[in-house]
Amino acid sequence: MSKIDFSPLYYGPNPPQPTPFDRLYAITHFIMPNFGTMDWDWQSREQVNDNLIKLQDETQNLNDDIMLYIHVPYCKSFCHYCNFNKNHYPRQSQDRLDLYVDYLIKEIDWYMAQPYVQARNFTAIYIGGGTPSTLSHKGMERLFTHLKQVVPKYDRLEKTFTGEPRSFKDIEKLKIVKDFGFDRVTFGIETFDPVLRKQIGRVDKQEDIDALFTGLEQINYKGDRCVDLMYDLPGQTFDGFAKDLETLVTQYKPEEADLFGTVYLPYRPMHKLIMKERLEQPGTMWQLLAMREFGYDYMIRHGYHNTIAETFSQNSKPSQYQTAHCGRQDIIGVGCAARGNVKDMVSINPDKIEDYIANIDAYGVSSTTMQPIGMSGVLDRLMVMFPRFKEIDKSLLAKFKDCDRYEPAMKILESHIQSGCTEDEGDRYTINKLGVVWHGNLQTDYMSHTLNTQGKMLLKCISDKKKHFARDVRFGTNFVTKFILGNPELFPLLMK
Ligand code: SF4
Repeated sequence: MSKIDFSPLYYGPNPPQPTPFDRLYAITHFIMPNFGTMDWDWQSREQVNDNLIKLQDETQNLNDDIMLYIHVPYCKSFCHYCNFNKNHYPRQSQDRLDLYVDYLIKEIDWYMAQPYVQARNFTAIYIGGGTPSTLSHKGMERLFTHLKQVVPKYDRLEKTFTGEPRSFKDIEKLKIVKDFGFDRVTFGIETFDPVLRKQIGRVDKQEDIDALFTGLEQINYKGDRCVDLMYDLPGQTFDGFAKDLETLVTQYKPEEADLFGTVYLPYRPMHKLIMKERLEQPGTMWQLLAMREFGYDYMIRHGYHNTIAETFSQNSKPSQYQTAHCGRQDIIGVGCAARGNVKDMVSINPDKIEDYIANIDAYGVSSTTMQPIGMSGVLDRLMVMFPRFKEIDKSLLAKFKDCDRYEPAMKILESHIQSGCTEDEGDRYTINKLGVVWHGNLQTDYMSHTLNTQGKMLLKCISDKKKHFARDVRFGTNFVTKFILGNPELFPLLMK
């Protein structure tokens, strides 16, 4: 297919609406384990131990850079759309939060003692969740003090702390975050529409968001304020989303905004509420494309850079965390359900707090899944994340020339150049605006060969054929949704 002329393609009075694919995959693939497979192998304890021992050897790295991700799996309320690993905030027993911090510290210490970790160049710490701002003042100070003591170059690292406006607006917490040098704070707004907020299960109010922004101003916070906004919500209109964007950019002026398309999966409460007709259907697939393209154009017009597919930043480069998340750095995963990428190995920690604690008591580290994926697996990960990261150097790809996945991946890349979504820029390939709008499709093409039956079922739920793009009713109950609903344990909750 020849290249498509841009702007605007999907919104405005008479949009031309060309489509480079016959089916739209509506989401960003950051929810799949290992960023490239649903085919997660069970490992014996002996195998896991052998794999963990490899961290005593500081060589065989794929990346020089490494970052530390720490997961805090508690939330004061559960949002209907959320698929992250989370537990109810222990209102009756704050000791459980303190105990959890104890175990985070133990696991951090285990990783820090590994020669492989010590030999890497630390770039970033990211504390995500769940809701890290549910930690007590004492818990935050204890965790941060420890990180400052044991993580190399702590003062020079990029440091991100995630909060939720109700618990994060606490001025003492904001001061602690600032005093320990966190230069990025991130929190979800999702939408300013009070009706939609209620429908998607956001208990916090716009007053909480205001209080958080005001608090950051009061303490003279100079770091980046990063927020999430969602589109394609149930009953949300194009004009409603446009109004949200305007409010965000003119009233709050965050340094960074992630514009996330809503992920509809049958085991999430929001999808269930739609199927039970207790929530409206989202708009058509055409509206989804229009919102995504409009969001891109709006943010660029207002001086933001599209650093990775869904992220718009006043900085021109992706953060260290985003760079690592897109497969370009190693990641140490600490905490429940945290994911790690070290050497050519991947790992997801246990998602239940009791299992997490028991493993650390027994082995010092919680992973029961640490396993090599080989160079082909690493190439898969790079290619699946390429449409998000938006560029890949040919010199990096050349390192994988001997992998059996190299030729198939290059064929897919060539087809994306033909469809007008990817550009050949001499020494690298890049993703253009059309590719950003369709990045779920590009990711899926690189990933689909790795999917098992569950993965293929999920793809059916998150996509639609072009002939249905104008259909008002996006979701209904069918064999696939019934199977997923009946077997939720096959479809795990994951870290961000
Ligand atoms: S979106 Fe954030 S606050 Fe809401 S349930 Fe998920 S992790 Fe918790």
